[in-house]
Amino acid sequence: MKDPLLSRESGEDHAAALAAATAEVGRYLDGRTTPRSSASPSHLAAQTAAVDLSTPLGTLEEALVEVRGLYLDHAVGYHHPRYLAHLNCPVTIPALAAETLATSVNTAVETWDQGTSACLIEQKLIDWTTGLIGFDRAEPTRPQQIRPDGVFTTGGTQSNLQALFTARENRLARPAPATGDAAVPGTPADRCARMSRLRIVTGEHAHLSVVMAARLLGLAPDAVIVLPGNGDQLDPATLDRALASVVDAGNEVAAVVALAGTTDHGVIDPMRSIGRVCRRHDVWLHVDAAYGGGLLVSPTRRDLLDGIELADSVTVDFHKTFFLPVAASALLLRDGSHFRHSTVSADYLNPADGDTHAVDKSLQTTRRFDALKLWMTLRVIGADGIGRLLDSAIDVAERTARTVEADPLLELVRRPELSTVLFRPRPPGADDDEADSLVRPVRDALFAEGRSVVAATVIDGRPCLKLTVLDPNLSEEDVAAVLADVREAALYLAVGFRQATTAGVLT
Ligand SMILES: *Cc1c(COP(=O)(O)O)cnc(C)c1O
Repeated sequence: MKDPLLSRESGEDHAAALAAATAEVGRYLDGRTTPRSSASPSHLAAQTAAVDLSTPLGTLEEALVEVRGLYLDHAVGYHHPRYLAHLNCPVTIPALAAETLATSVNTAVETWDQGTSACLIEQKLIDWTTGLIGFDRAEPTRPQQIRPDGVFTTGGTQSNLQALFTARENRLARPAPATGDAAVPGTPADRCARMSRLRIVTGEHAHLSVVMAARLLGLAPDAVIVLPGNGDQLDPATLDRALASVVDAGNEVAAVVALAGTTDHGVIDPMRSIGRVCRRHDVWLHVDAAYGGGLLVSPTRRDLLDGIELADSVTVDFHKTFFLPVAASALLLRDGSHFRHSTVSADYLNPADGDTHAVDKSLQTTRRFDALKLWMTLRVIGADGIGRLLDSAIDVAERTARTVEADPLLELVRRPELSTVLFRPRPPGADDDEADSLVRPVRDALFAEGRSVVAATVIDGRPCLKLTVLDPNLSEEDVAAVLADVREAALYLAVGFRQATTAGVLT
C-alpha cells in the first residue's frame, strides 16, 4: 500500500480496500452453516497468540486472509437463524452505508467547528426521539423555557450512567431535608454527607449498569434499593411505600429506575402508575428503555410504552430494537437544561462565554457520528419500517412460545412480553430437579457444538433456557430446528443424568 492514509490521492486504494472487505463479509455470510464455529476458545487463543505483531504482513490482502482465519471464520453470527441468545440484532444495510460514510470522513461530533452539519443531523434525531417519547404530552402547560434534549452515547450502560449522574446532581442542587446534620447546607462537607444518604430505587431486574453507575457515582455500597416485584414488574404500591420509608430513614431518593423491557425477561414496568408515584414524591424517574425503546416506532405495540413520557430521563439503545450496528444509543431528558451538570468548558474547545456545543452535553469528548446510521435507516425505510421489523420479531417470539407450549418435551416458563422466550426442556418422566439440572448442560452442549446458540438464565430461583428473538425473518422451520436441537440434547443428557443418579454419582 503506497500511502495508508485516506486522501484525495489514495481514493482508489480506499475503494479497493472497502470492496475487498465487503467481499469478506459476503464470504462470511454465505459460508456460515452454523452460528459459531466449533473451534474451542483455547485453540483460538493459541492461534491469536501466535501472531507476531512486530512483523507486519505488508498488504491488505494478506491481512484480510489472516483476519478471516482469526476472526471471521469464528465470529458468532448474530444474523444466523440459529443464533437466539442475547440482545444482538441483525443490522440494516442503510446503517452500514452510513457507517462507511461517517468513519471515512471521521467526523467528531463535538463542536460547531468540528462537525457543523453532523451536529445538526444529530440534533434533529434527538428532537425526533424526544417527540416519539412525547415529553410534551406529559405537561401541556409547562413553561416555554423547558425544552427536552438528548445526546447520543455508546450504549445503555453509558446512557444509564449519565442519567443517574444527572439525577444525583439534580437532587444535590436542591435543598436537603432537615436531618440535624452539623454540616452547613451547600458546603463540600454537606455534599459529602448527603451523597452517603442518596438512594436509587429499582426493581429486581434492573440492568447491572445501575449498580455499576451507583459505584462510579460514589454512592454508598447499599445505595441501590431493589424492591420485590409483582411478578417481574415493579409494583407502584410497593414503590410508593419504599419512597416514603427512604425519607423516614433520613435518606434521600436520587432516582427511581423503571424498565421498559428487562434485559433478561423483556418485561415492561407499569410506567404511568410509576410516573404518578414519582411525581407525588417529587423524585426523578429514569426509564431504561434500552431493550423496549424500539416500541416507540412500532405500528401496533406503541401502547406498551404508555406513560414513558412521565420520565425525567430515558435510555434508548438504537443498537438493539432499532436494528443499528453497535454502537448507537441515546439519553433523552425531559428538561434539557439538566445537561448543564455534564458541561465542563475549556478555552480551546467550548469556552464558557461562547456558543453551546454538542460536547457540552456529553461524557465523551471525541464522539463518533453514530447518529448517521439512524438517519440513513429512517430516510430509506422510515420509522414504520423499523417498527415493523420489531413487530415481526415479537410475532416470531409469540409464535415460538405457542410452539413450545404445544410440545410435550418442552415447558414454557413465561409468556413473552417483548421478544424473549423462556422455557425448559422436559424429557419424559423428568421431575423439576431433573429438568432444572439439564438447562445449563443443554445450553453448553449446543454452544460447544456450534449448531445453535441459546442463552440460559434463572427465573424464580429455577434455571431455564432463553431465546432472544430479534430476527424478524425467522421462519417456523428455523425455530423448529433450534427447538429440535434443544430436545435432542436434553434427551441425550437425560440418559446420562439417570445413569449417574442410579449409580449414585448424583444424589
Ligand atoms: C442492554 C441493556 C443495557 C445496557 O446497554 P449496552 O448498550 O449493552 O451498554 C441497559 N439496560 C437494559 C435494560 C438493557 O437491556
